Amino acid sequence: MNQPDPFTDFQRLSAEADNLAHDLAKFRQELNNVLEQNAELVIENKHLRGRLNDLAPQSEHGSQKDEMLPSRRNLEKLYDAGYHICNMMYGARRENNEPCAFCTAIIYGSGNRTNH
Ligand SMILES: [Zn+2]
Repeated sequence: MNQPDPFTDFQRLSAEADNLAHDLAKFRQELNNVLEQNAELVIENKHLRGRLNDLAPQSEHGSQKDEMLPSRRNLEKLYDAGYHICNMMYGARRENNEPCAFCTAIIYGSGNRTNH
């Protein structure tokens, strides 16, 4: 007695189509969020790369000052503004301003030997 009933089929398909439309709308919203976030990050990244190019020392003239270099000070500003300036996480936001050892190593030059 499983006679195909066109109307039942139609109702079933119609319900499935509704569900699908609902899922699609949800998915589209999620996709929008991701694309928005991505666009934001692309802009941030461009901005930060531009800044870094501005800050890059033109050449090494060997006239190293004891004071913090301007480029480092600017990196520190970016870091304080909540961005990573280290190679690992370059341009990413520091969530909750959590400290990053790689960033601070670049800013404060723990690689350089400092005699106290
Ligand atoms: Zn970092």
